[in-house]
Amino acid sequence: MGRITLDKVTKSFGSVHVLHGIDLDIQDGEFVVFVGPSGCGKSTLLRQIAGLDKPNSGEIAIDGKRVNDVPAADRGLAMVFQSYALYPHMSVKQNLAFGLENARMPKAEIENRIAEAARMLEIGDYLHRRPGQLSGGQRQRVAIGRAIVRNPTAFLLDEPLSNLDAELRISMRAELSALHQRLKTTMIYVTHDQVEAMTLANRIVVLRGGRIEQVGTPLELYNRPANRFVAGFIGAPS
Ligand code: ADP
Ligand code: MG
Repeated sequence: MGRITLDKVTKSFGSVHVLHGIDLDIQDGEFVVFVGPSGCGKSTLLRQIAGLDKPNSGEIAIDGKRVNDVPAADRGLAMVFQSYALYPHMSVKQNLAFGLENARMPKAEIENRIAEAARMLEIGDYLHRRPGQLSGGQRQRVAIGRAIVRNPTAFLLDEPLSNLDAELRISMRAELSALHQRLKTTMIYVTHDQVEAMTLANRIVVLRGGRIEQVGTPLELYNRPANRFVAGFIGAPS
């Protein structure tokens, strides 16, 4: 579970064409990184996959089911944003529990899931603090924890480390890799940072102006860039 397919997905806002026919097949358990310059349509593409927004044409399916035919709560997708989007008036624990309580999950199961996520992300020591009392890195761990407790089919992460300082970004990058190794859940990760893409991805999707320039493993893109743009962007000499 966790295969995501995109078939000729287009998206416009009024007369602004943002996505021009995106085709992509993401395998179960893959760590796929969308990379490209600011404004190339990465977030827009992720939002279409999440079902937060609807393409003008084309289809997106998760495990063979069209995203927009499945109620949001049943899609099995968990999103993590750059801005954390934690509830400031709730404790860390309440933030983690909130979505599960809304889904009427039994209390004991909620406790189990929170304990497991807290162990994995080492956030157990500040479960009773509020987001305002945490550092940026701690907050981002909580945001990831909130995705993990939902036990999703796929994680969709939009520049989750962009707000962190360089040192923390590097350590969180390693943690995300370890998390993926452990959970083996499909991850789609958006970034404009080439180094992040190269170090995290099983496969990289290079976007430019709402089109896919190339899809491949980091090594493939590095050794055989399809064009000068990819070469320049990934950093190999062309
Ligand atoms: P990226 O995440 O790669 O930086 P975005 O997907 O956020 O890029 O944006 C791609 C383009 O689509 C930009 O030109 C942006 O201004 C435009 N865009 C995104 N969302 C909207 C919207 N809701 N209304 C109008 N234009 C939008
Ligand atoms: Mg974006």
